[in-house]
Amino acid sequence: MNEEVIEKTIEWCRGCFNINSDYIINYKRRHMGDCWGECEHINDTTFEITIHPMMCIRDTAATVIHEMLHVKQWIHESKRDESDDGEAEANSLQYKLADLMWSLGIL
Ligand SMILES: [Zn+2]
Repeated sequence: MNEEVIEKTIEWCRGCFNINSDYIINYKRRHMGDCWGECEHINDTTFEITIHPMMCIRDTAATVIHEMLHVKQWIHESKRDESDDGEAEANSLQYKLADLMWSLGIL
């Protein structure tokens, strides 16, 4: 169930954030203590997202969206001001977009 939510959310974010199929986004599920998600930039076109496996659907989707916003920032906003780590944007949008996915019937 959790994996299906992660995969659907990654696909939806690809469309939403204009991340085309040239970019590879892998994910894994792993316990990370009190860290719920992580995004690693492996190389120019490959990203790896790690998601904590013990979350409800809404938190899982929101965490994937948060990490996908970081992917989007890397790809489309490379000139981003270095004092802005993108956390504010990711935090402010993650639940809004998760609830939008829910209301659109995607989750
Ligand atoms: Zn973040």
